[in-house]
Amino acid sequence: MNVPHPYGTMPLLPQGGMSTSTPRRITNAMTVDVEDWFQVQAFAGVIDRADWPSLGSRVLGSTEAVLESFAAGPIHATFFVLGWVAERHPALIRRILAAGHELASHGHGHERVDEIGARAFREDVRRARRVLEDAGGVAVAGYRAPTFSISRARTPWAHEILAEEGYAYSSSSFPIRHDLYGAADAPRRPHRPDPNGVIELPMTTLSLFGQNLPCAGGGWFRLLPYRLFRAGLRSVNAHLGQPGIFYFHPWELDAGQPRQAGAPLKSRLRHYSGIPGMPRRIERLLGDFAWDRLDRVHAREIAGQLPAPVMA
Ligand SMILES: [Zn+2]
Repeated sequence: MNVPHPYGTMPLLPQGGMSTSTPRRITNAMTVDVEDWFQVQAFAGVIDRADWPSLGSRVLGSTEAVLESFAAGPIHATFFVLGWVAERHPALIRRILAAGHELASHGHGHERVDEIGARAFREDVRRARRVLEDAGGVAVAGYRAPTFSISRARTPWAHEILAEEGYAYSSSSFPIRHDLYGAADAPRRPHRPDPNGVIELPMTTLSLFGQNLPCAGGGWFRLLPYRLFRAGLRSVNAHLGQPGIFYFHPWELDAGQPRQAGAPLKSRLRHYSGIPGMPRRIERLLGDFAWDRLDRVHAREIAGQLPAPVMA
């Protein structure tokens, strides 16, 4: 399906400008990575992807719960959906769009970009975009790599391939130290890693004592005291004058998902900890900050207007 990208006519948002006189409420970007409970990296060693179709999908119910929590606001968000999920649940794609959210791509098969190589990456993002656009009837501009597995060192070709495959932005890098992902020395602000590639909108971090700390969601959000996380994001907004990018998964709200007893303890802790308290945490987060879709929060940067480099 051939559909035009919307950015040429997109209105610029008031939160894009800096004000020095009156305090303003910065609008942060809310994002959801839509995948099923059995597709996560933590279980990649114990769940064979050939078994995925028979594992009892729960993504419909858990994504419905996310849509309901957003509808109460209402809050509009960006949904990075796996092509694999869209292929099986096209009606879910239409539900997401009907509620006013941005449809974006999480790739097709949830394979690490830094493991599959450039050729398979191109095929994966091409297939995902085609499936999503066919299911939704809209242009898909955004991409998020599975497990934030894009970095300049290991995937220097990724941003150019994304541009060639019709994407307009990536939100796939996490400038932190982590055993599964991240590149601590990656830029913390929107940047264009490759002049021929798409812009990168990194996950939000807080710089403290010379270290980048994650301030974007994930297991940290489920486990740390909520107030600590809130203080971190407020600090990003107030002191840096920057919107944050938050992410979570529908399975993080699903206390009824099957338990993977055979997975290593570390993987189980990473996946299951904090899930019972997650709905309440998300509710507080939605109420404590202003939120919008990633393509609107960073409309200027996606349209090519990068902010001046700032050391932070
Ligand atoms: Zn994922």
